[in-house]
Amino acid sequence: MSDEYFMKMALKLATRGRSWASPNPMVGALVVKKGKVIGRGWHRCCGESHAEVNAIADATQSVKDSTLYVTLEPCCHHGKTPPCTDLIIASKIPAMNIIDLSITIIVDTIDRIKTVCPYICD
Ligand SMILES: [Zn+2]
Repeated sequence: MSDEYFMKMALKLATRGRSWASPNPMVGALVVKKGKVIGRGWHRCCGESHAEVNAIADATQSVKDSTLYVTLEPCCHHGKTPPCTDLIIASKIPAMNIIDLSITIIVDTIDRIKTVCPYICD
């Protein structure tokens, strides 16, 4: 399966937040290991955990050596929930693919994650 295939799947998951994510954006995330989806997440409701956190929590096995696909840059600020970037770093996920149409804060996030996640593709 291609990156495009998994990213489309993550985009589809994002739409599940259609009713309650607002005013936050709809975001979907997948954890993929050895070509298999091992975790799925989306931002269900404003004020609740973000898609990346839900995907990592949903993982059916260790996320080590996996790839995270996420449809928005992981946050690196404290809001209603802790920064997703911290969890991604702590989880030692070595690769990530991001689609993001709003690149205002992505540089900071990417720089932080690149310190432990060498294979990042945005
Ligand atoms: Zn977040």
